[in-house]
Amino acid sequence: MTFSVEQINALAIDYAEKDPKDLISLALQAFGKLAISFSGAEDVILIELATKVARQLDKPVHVFTLDTGRLHPETYQFIDRVRQHYNLTIDILSPDTVALEAFVREKGLFSFYQTDHHECCGIRKIEPLKRKLATLDAWITGQRRDQSPGTRNQVPVIEQDPTFGKDKALVKFNPLANWTSKQVWDYIRMFDVPYNPLHDRGFISIGCEPCTRPVGPGQHEREGRWWWEEATAKECGLHRGNVIASDGD
Ligand code: SF4
Repeated sequence: MTFSVEQINALAIDYAEKDPKDLISLALQAFGKLAISFSGAEDVILIELATKVARQLDKPVHVFTLDTGRLHPETYQFIDRVRQHYNLTIDILSPDTVALEAFVREKGLFSFYQTDHHECCGIRKIEPLKRKLATLDAWITGQRRDQSPGTRNQVPVIEQDPTFGKDKALVKFNPLANWTSKQVWDYIRMFDVPYNPLHDRGFISIGCEPCTRPVGPGQHEREGRWWWEEATAKECGLHRGNVIASDGD
């Protein structure tokens, strides 16, 4: 099914206050080429909700994740635990080896500490993501407004994804946009959803190992990501629209 920008905006208004399950239900019914983006963190809740909704609708659930090559061992183990727990096939996407090898040969393995994270994220995350998105009509993300005051406070529940401009219509569903971290964790605990053990060690927002650190009491979760950079630049580009709107995991 194809939606115009006006239709997407109207749906975003209609569904603005709806439950995440309603949004996932809409996505599963409206789009055949649809997949959930799973980062290996608390966005596992999307898989939990989607498998419940999909069972009622008798629809398949497609999930992909980006293997940057720099994730924590705990995250790799968690991704595989989720695969087994939900009996899912997870598409694990790797960076282009030619581009990656040229990059690390020239700049080493930690160039992001000297410059910024964008070039490394571009090769390890953005290119594989775009390759995947080119095969989809819509995707589902775990973005929440409370994750980043600088870049996510306007995230709608449904939006036209600008990744491919006019070359390809792509719709992004953000079913958890309205939920707080507390709601997510209340749900995870209530329904005994598997979670990444790094969360028990002070990690809130989990990304690549060299670019993620635990945060202390009173610190915002995003302070644990790319801490050597400006707060308004703390998006890796996966959600480019957020950064264009304000200036993209
Ligand atoms: S988060 Fe860090 S290690 Fe991971 S792709 Fe971005 S810059 Fe590279």
